[in-house]
Amino acid sequence: MVKEDFRNKSYWMTTRDYVPGDAFQGELDVDVAIVGGGFTGLSSAYHLKKAEPNMRVALLESEVVGFGASGRNGGFNMTLFGLTLGITALRFGKEKARQAQHYMEQAVDYLQELVTELKIDCDYEHPGIFAGGHLGKIQTAHCQGN
Ligand SMILES: Cc1cc2nc3c(=O)[nH]c(=O)nc-3n(C[C@H](O)[C@H](O)[C@H](O)COP(=O)(O)OP(=O)(O)OC[C@H]3O[C@@H](n4cnc5c(N)ncnc54)[C@H](O)[C@@H]3O)c2cc1C
Repeated sequence: MVKEDFRNKSYWMTTRDYVPGDAFQGELDVDVAIVGGGFTGLSSAYHLKKAEPNMRVALLESEVVGFGASGRNGGFNMTLFGLTLGITALRFGKEKARQAQHYMEQAVDYLQELVTELKIDCDYEHPGIFAGGHLGKIQTAHCQGN
């Protein structure tokens, strides 16, 4: 059964004519079965096939590809990940926070490369991100002033 109401779930779903394929019927014999057609599943499938072209990979999605958070998010390719850098440093130490930040910067650049390499038609823009900071003295003065 093709589910039509997915287009009402997100802005992105309304910006392209996307017609999902017919639901899979029957049985498949595969090396890897991935459950979920979001970024995690699609990326896993893509990278598995890239590393091992002969690997039999099936991606199973119960609704339509992008039905979950991947199809409804803000669309920002950014270094933020749940915890702020400051909280990450407090919890795991400055070195781990530095590594995490570096990893995320690589991930952001990698996504840009992937969009270019695969010619993904997604109006991608890579404007950079502004990170602001202030000096301890100014912060102290501000806090005292209030
Ligand atoms: C409102 C919002 C805004 C966000 N904004 C951003 C942003 O700007 N930038 C950013 O980097 N991140 C953002 N995120 C986070 C990001 O969207 C998620 O981290 C990411 O999409 C998670 O991808 P996923 O593939 O793990 O999960 P999902 O995209 O949720 O994919 C899971 C898929 O599995 C399917 N599924 C579930 N159960 C089954 C089953 N039993 N059988 C088959 N299929 C199943 C679902 O239908 C779904 O399609 C945002 C998230 C939200 C909610």
